[in-house]
Amino acid sequence: MHEASIAEELVRQVRAELDRIEGAVRLKSVRVYTGVLEQIVPDNLAMAFEAMTKDSALENTRLEIIEVQAKLKCVKCGAESEVKIPFFVCPECSSTDVEVIQGKGVWLENLEVEVDE
Ligand SMILES: [Zn+2]
Repeated sequence: MHEASIAEELVRQVRAELDRIEGAVRLKSVRVYTGVLEQIVPDNLAMAFEAMTKDSALENTRLEIIEVQAKLKCVKCGAESEVKIPFFVCPECSSTDVEVIQGKGVWLENLEVEVDE
C-alpha cells in the first residue's frame, strides 16, 4: 500500500524532529500536508500511521491530514488555475503547456510536543 510507505517516512521524520527538541517527552499532534496529486487516501494514511506508532513513544499522536489542492501555471499566458484532474489544461487560453506549481509532495508541519521542563 502506497500510504504505508508514506507513513513510514513520516514516522522517520517525526522521530528525527523529536530527537532535535531538547526534553521532548511526547508528541501530541502533528499536521501533515498531502498534495492531491500524490493520490493519498487520508484514512489509509491515518491508519497506517497509527499501526506504525502503536506501542511506541509516538502512540496516540493526533495526526491531522490536510489535503493540498493542485494548481497549474500556464507557461503560455501565465494564468494560475486549480487542476481539474485529469485535465492539465489552462482554462484561460486552453494551452496544455502548463506546469504543476502545487499539489505534489507530502510534508510535516506543526509538531506539537510535550516537553519535560
Ligand atoms: Zn494559458
